[in-house]
Amino acid sequence: MSKIKSSEAVKVVVRCRPLNRKEESNGPAGGIVQMDLRLGQVILRNPRAPASEPQKTFTFDAVYDPNSKQRDLYDESVRPLIDSVLAGFNGTIFAYGQTGTGKTYTMQGAWMDPEKRGVIPNAFDHIFTHISRSQSDKQYLVRASYLEIYREEIRDLLDPNHGSARALELRENPDTGVYVQDLTSCVCKSIKEIEEVMNVGNQARAVGATDMNEHSSRSHALFLITVECSQPGPDGRKHIRVGRLNLVDLAGSERQAKTGVQGERLKEAAKINLSLSALGNVISALADGRSSHVPYRDSKLTRLLQDSLGGNAKTVMVATLGPAPQHYEETLTTLRYANRAKNIQNQPRVNEDPKDALLREFQREIARLRAQLNHRKWRNKQKMEQMDGETWEKDGDGETDGEEEDVEVEKEAEEYVKLEEQRLEREKQAIREDGSLLAGEKQRLLGEKERMMGDLRREQEATEQLTAQYKAMESKLLVGGKNIIDHTNEQQKMLEMKRQEIAEQTRKEREIQQQMLVQDEETVELRETFTSLQQEVEAKTKKLKKLYAKLQCIKAEIQDVNGEHVTSRQELEQTQNELVRELKFKYLIIENFIPPEEKNKIMNRLTFDPEEDQWKFQPLVPAESKSSQMKKRPASAVGYKRPISQYARVAIAMGAHSRYRAENIMFLELDMTPPNTSSLDHSAEAELNQSPSVDNLITKDKGVRKSRSWCQTPKSITSSSSNVSLTGCHTATAALAQ
Ligand code: ADP
Ligand code: MG
Repeated sequence: MSKIKSSEAVKVVVRCRPLNRKEESNGPAGGIVQMDLRLGQVILRNPRAPASEPQKTFTFDAVYDPNSKQRDLYDESVRPLIDSVLAGFNGTIFAYGQTGTGKTYTMQGAWMDPEKRGVIPNAFDHIFTHISRSQSDKQYLVRASYLEIYREEIRDLLDPNHGSARALELRENPDTGVYVQDLTSCVCKSIKEIEEVMNVGNQARAVGATDMNEHSSRSHALFLITVECSQPGPDGRKHIRVGRLNLVDLAGSERQAKTGVQGERLKEAAKINLSLSALGNVISALADGRSSHVPYRDSKLTRLLQDSLGGNAKTVMVATLGPAPQHYEETLTTLRYANRAKNIQNQPRVNEDPKDALLREFQREIARLRAQLNHRKWRNKQKMEQMDGETWEKDGDGETDGEEEDVEVEKEAEEYVKLEEQRLEREKQAIREDGSLLAGEKQRLLGEKERMMGDLRREQEATEQLTAQYKAMESKLLVGGKNIIDHTNEQQKMLEMKRQEIAEQTRKEREIQQQMLVQDEETVELRETFTSLQQEVEAKTKKLKKLYAKLQCIKAEIQDVNGEHVTSRQELEQTQNELVRELKFKYLIIENFIPPEEKNKIMNRLTFDPEEDQWKFQPLVPAESKSSQMKKRPASAVGYKRPISQYARVAIAMGAHSRYRAENIMFLELDMTPPNTSSLDHSAEAELNQSPSVDNLITKDKGVRKSRSWCQTPKSITSSSSNVSLTGCHTATAALAQ
């Protein structure tokens, strides 16, 4: 495994767009941005400062002035990154800058015009051309996803129900890192297909927005491409390399005005650029190199780009600028931001045989379908051989491979079915013509043959289905030099190569120039030999002046940065004050209008979910007891409605105290004896008189008073003990009457 850890800085390039018509008409002031393409330097002029003030100079890996072509930027700064992705590295390109400075132009460009196609369409071309030109022992699987982060919510732009769908969640896997759960991923077999995916996503983005410009300036768009490549290694086994490419068009970096907004709107404003300010903090923390904590978890964007900033990825940042004087402050902020990002060190490595490689699954599935097809083929062959004792001419030894074999399987299946059908037809005919058979018997035999034919057709359909499935699956895998016909001729290829060489050379030249500049300053002293004291003084004065100017520059820079810091701190304080005020308001309502016990109940149920960054209610019923909602009756009270003491049980058994009887009164029906239907039975009364007491009788009844309904058929009262109480009542009534 080639997992050698090597460190590599984030590449930062700066691009300045031309003045637009409106800016041109504003006056002859011209742009405030100058570029030295040879040295990769940006020189920024402060339109409000006196001419004597030194201009600010920043050096980057490359700079692109307003005349630069899309193709130049791609060949010089992006192509090497895409090549790395194709070799199994993770790669990220993000465009950073104020709204209207050309982020979308750089990333997407104008699709129709080949000259103006941006990084993304050029990357599509690059990837698929590379696959078509690679060796045929390589298998590729290309997938694409498209998402957007708006107000800290992740939306899947390829989901047909994009507008109404729930925001997606981020999850973390110890093996593969942070990923978006349930994100749509489309397998793409050609440039056309992947462009289609891009278009679908762009449309979804536009549909969801009321004002496209406003929306795109406040949301981050991420186009993700995964390229998996399988190739036999020296050990004979197939090894898979997975390269992931993130193409990111960030929200506009201009400061969102937070002043004067309150409540929900304030929180919204605070959320819109949360990802961007978190990105700034991450970059600062990484560039600083001293801070041990990098706040990746502060926003969705930084979590998603965690690998791209200081992790396992190669990263290119394109900072876009506008040349107009009125945007001096924003331009300066962008340049400082970009300057800081240069210091981030990544540790890219090839992702070899990762656990989540989809290509492996695809290969397994294809092998399974192929085995099934082969089994069918073998079965058909066997049947053919049995049939009529004919020998199967085809050699079908399973050694032919690929498409040849598929064609063969199909042909054999068809031929078998055709022969079998003919045979059945012949047999049917023979049965029909056979005079010796009875009509019923004939019918039965014919029916049987029909059934066999039905079976045969079903079998054939199943085979066809299986073949289609197999082909669909296999077509998803791109094989080097096969799936895509390369239309470019040799001349064009040569041209491309030459262009790449030139780009490479320009890059190297710039690097050398930059190195020379640094060395020049350091070694100038060593080289100089002074012939006279006067000369020495002159040279040293010159040097002093130079250094003094540098010092002034740095001082001014420090002042600027301090000023910026103060502004952003003031803004933060203001936001905090507003939030505290709102919190006080909510507290006032809670303290005065919500009963304390209710409040406590709610507080006890609340838990914080760090994954979703939200407070959540715990369910009222604990999850494990959901299935058995009813609590179990305590064992000590079996057969009773509620726990009961031993004393009470004894008391019930004894019938000593009426208090404990209440426990077992089961039901009391109103016993309405119809009036005038029964006369007093004297013999019964006599019998009753002999009984010791009413109370005793009730005890015998085990304490259950069960009354007789008046509609029951009248029985002799004496025969049932359950009637005693009733009779007792009668007696009592009679006694009262007397
Ligand atoms: P952003 O995405 O940063 O808000 P856009 O990419 O939408 O900005 O660019 C704003 C306008 O400027 C567009 O009309 C675009 O065509 C134009 N533009 C930007 N960069 C360039 C460039 N390098 N060359 C020509 N036109 C450009
Ligand atoms: Mg844009």
